[in-house]
Amino acid sequence: MQDIILLKQGEIVLKGLNKKYFEQKLISNVKRRLRSLGEFDVTCTQSTIYVEPKSDDIDMDETQQAMTKVFGIAAVVRAAACDKTPEAMAQKAIEYMAEAMREAGSFKVETRRADKAFPMTSIEVSQYVGGELAEAFPETAVDVHNPELTVHVEVRERAAYIHRPPLPGAGGLPVGCGGTAVTLLSGGIDSPVSTYMIAKRGVHMIPVHFFSFPYTSELAKQKVLDLAKELTAYCGRLTVEVVPFTHIQTEIRDKCPEEYFTLIMRRFMMRIAAKIAQQEGAKALITGESLGQVASQTLDALCCTDAVAGMPVFRPLIGNDKIEIIHIAEKIGTYETSCQPYEDCCTVFTPRHPCTRPKLEHVERAEGALDIDALVDAAVAGTEMIQL
Ligand code: ATP
Ligand code: MG
Repeated sequence: MQDIILLKQGEIVLKGLNKKYFEQKLISNVKRRLRSLGEFDVTCTQSTIYVEPKSDDIDMDETQQAMTKVFGIAAVVRAAACDKTPEAMAQKAIEYMAEAMREAGSFKVETRRADKAFPMTSIEVSQYVGGELAEAFPETAVDVHNPELTVHVEVRERAAYIHRPPLPGAGGLPVGCGGTAVTLLSGGIDSPVSTYMIAKRGVHMIPVHFFSFPYTSELAKQKVLDLAKELTAYCGRLTVEVVPFTHIQTEIRDKCPEEYFTLIMRRFMMRIAAKIAQQEGAKALITGESLGQVASQTLDALCCTDAVAGMPVFRPLIGNDKIEIIHIAEKIGTYETSCQPYEDCCTVFTPRHPCTRPKLEHVERAEGALDIDALVDAAVAGTEMIQL
């Protein structure tokens, strides 16, 4: 007999008339995530999604971990299976709830009966299991009105189940409910985190990476693909668009004043990302920028980059310190990969004294020596799509 997993919906429960739409999206995301783990029955009742394995060889620990990364879920509850007899249910409850029962001052049992043919009513099951628990843990009082601990019993077709203490879910909204955005994904620490944060609000992501071969190596590109692969656990399917960036960078190096190198390069990134976004129906650009982190992320510099975006640019990390960003990167599992020492194109041709308070008209003048449209078009045309 296999355990089952119950997924408690998060913010979706606050939705009004379009709740069904969010719920359907969540169920389809859950099903897609489960596909590589085995065969499951997935059903939904009263804002809870039931994930029941169809065979005994499915790894339920791995399944549970995978479910904690699906956005839209507030809590992931593993429920232990037992025979559909009152004695077996009570025994399981005593076994699984031992620690929680010892910690709680009071408890009650709540039973849900999906198998309507089961000979006992929900109340009878609760009374029986509750009685056995009270006997096993005499220090914990029964309180049906305001218990510190509620022990959940489910009687379903295949078996009966006792809920274990829940794991926190990933929160947020189901990916795909909030439209599409292009995320600028470098190999650094910040941009995988910013990608995660906007995906959490239900947005489907298209990662775009600027690649300056041979100034940055194949290993640097692979690192970005590895990061994107790690993000798929949260973001769902991803197709990384790799933009050839070398020619643009050498043009900037050869024709523009050194103090504006990075800023002009970043404006090209924005133009190209925005063009890809338009082609893909994406409505915003996401970056991992944080105010004041480097010269190209001062308020003045960000104004210059935004001036060419032509669509909203979201920077979810704008107010975060590096240390806070690292904590999130560790939590979501991208930190280690980000720390691999391959160079990003941002560190190629970096100016010795970058301008930290650039004026837009000066930057525009500095760009005057370049055929901007032709460079952007060529880069977009040369983009390689890599489906993960
Ligand atoms: P990260 O910010 O991801 O740690 P980083 O600090 O090396 O990497 P920054 O110079 O801070 O990069 O770049 C700011 C933002 O610009 C990144 O968070 C990312 O969104 C975008 N970016 C930088 N380099 C690239 C690149 N090669 N391809 C795509 N986006 C990039
Ligand atoms: Mg950064």
